Amino acid sequence: MSDQNLPRTIETLQRKITDLRKHAGQHSEQRCAELPQIIEELNRVIETLRLAEQPLQNQAEHYRLLVEGCTDYAIFMLDPGGNVVSWNAGAERIKGYRAEEIIGKHFSCFYPQQDVETGKPDQVLHMAAAMGRHQDEGWRLRKDGSRFWANVVMTALRNEAGQLHGFAKVTRDVTERRRVAARLRSLIDTTQDAVIFIDRQGRIDLFNPAAERIFGYTRAEVQGQKVQMLMPEPYASEHDGYIERYKRTGEPHAIGRIRSVAARRKSSEVFPIEISVAELGDDEDMRYAALVRDVSERVKLQGQLLERERLASVGTTAAILAHEIGSPLNGISLAVQLLEKQLTKQHALLDDKVTALLDRIAREIRRLTLLLDEYRALTRDQRFDLQPTSLMTVVTDVLAVETQHYATLGVHVEQEIPSDLPLLVADSHKLKQVVLNLCKNAVEAMPDGGTLTVRAYDSGRQLCLEVSDTGVGIPAGIDIFAAFTTTKPHGTGLGLAVVRQIIEAHKGTLTYHSVPGQGTTFTLTLPISQSETG
Ligand code: ADP
Ligand code: MG
Repeated sequence: MSDQNLPRTIETLQRKITDLRKHAGQHSEQRCAELPQIIEELNRVIETLRLAEQPLQNQAEHYRLLVEGCTDYAIFMLDPGGNVVSWNAGAERIKGYRAEEIIGKHFSCFYPQQDVETGKPDQVLHMAAAMGRHQDEGWRLRKDGSRFWANVVMTALRNEAGQLHGFAKVTRDVTERRRVAARLRSLIDTTQDAVIFIDRQGRIDLFNPAAERIFGYTRAEVQGQKVQMLMPEPYASEHDGYIERYKRTGEPHAIGRIRSVAARRKSSEVFPIEISVAELGDDEDMRYAALVRDVSERVKLQGQLLERERLASVGTTAAILAHEIGSPLNGISLAVQLLEKQLTKQHALLDDKVTALLDRIAREIRRLTLLLDEYRALTRDQRFDLQPTSLMTVVTDVLAVETQHYATLGVHVEQEIPSDLPLLVADSHKLKQVVLNLCKNAVEAMPDGGTLTVRAYDSGRQLCLEVSDTGVGIPAGIDIFAAFTTTKPHGTGLGLAVVRQIIEAHKGTLTYHSVPGQGTTFTLTLPISQSETG
């Protein structure tokens, strides 16, 4: 007999038994003959039922053992009202109650006081009953009152008719996981390096505050975007290729070492970074974590240091040269003057040609002397004589001497300096040199004449001086402040190097804005309080 025709067999038997009962008084021979057959069939039914029940019993037993033995999870059941009806070893371990203590108690005793007051346990019951399943994380209490961070899944149990007859709850203690995650989170949030997580497709999925600061994008702007948006060419185009190759060959390009490359800010400024990339996760869910350090400041400082070193070594040579060349140059200069006098005495010989030649010699000597002076200015042991100084006086002194000369070159000078500027603490002689160099460059940028404007104003904590011209502009791509950078056939390339050195000693700044063909403005700022300048 198989399980399928069991119901029919039982039905037939029932009919036969009813029939027997009905005619209980009348013992017909035929009926008596049926009895052993009925009993035999009954036995068979009972045997079939016993056999059928066994696997069910076994299964229930297996589940019971599984639940009992599971000590990592608290697994227990509630009746529809929320009272505990079963309790496993994991529940005892995690929550601290033994089965006999807790069975029959309401599950709200697992919640902190505050949650009980706001009715959270009841809400959870309702939600689980309504949705069939409810999952959440939060603080729960142990028997001894201590807290743990719980991950809870609650499932409503219903019979076939849909009647609720309780809830199964599975609770895990994930306090440690939460603590680690919180520590990691605060580390990522506070580190000064940019931390960026990238998924397998190279899309950004974590962008920490340092990354926002360094790159200038907000998290929302980059979330889900290709990481290439943070890279300049050629890295950007090559990047997909790197990931592909790495996935194919396992041959790392950036992973596991620190590389110096360039990155791009939102402002499209390209800047130097150091980057190291680590793999997170497994094959399925591979992620990359990039640690990025903005080294632009360091690179700039290094550049300045190198520049200083270069100037210092130039300086030693220059000091020797200045001495070795300076004396004979003086000698020649004197000789030329003497020669001029001698020739003047013998009028006859002093024709135009000779005068022109002498002039030229004198001019060349002046040029050489200037070159030597600029060398000396750069290399001289820099001592600054700081005194209360009027910027107005400095500028006026320089222009008083130069304006006449500039006029002959077709350059018109405009001076806009308020008379009530606060005094600076500065070396006025050095400042004159600065103003002179800037004006000289401006005039030299206007071979066909133009306007030189010198403006000064008080911008609060500092004074600003602007020197503007209407000249040719500064070609892009050259570092005009570097020593020996010049675009002029007879330039020394030292003027701005000297200027910068002086400004730095005054803790000021010097910037410029230039439009080719229209002109250039140099802006100099000097702090009004110079107390700490040395
Ligand atoms: P030099 O004047 O001897 O060339 P500087 O250090 O004074 O050296 O200037 C360096 C270079 O900067 C110049 O050769 C020129 O190309 C550029 N420059 C400086 N000032 C100006 C300006 N006002 N307009 C255009 N170019 C300028
Ligand atoms: Mg110059």
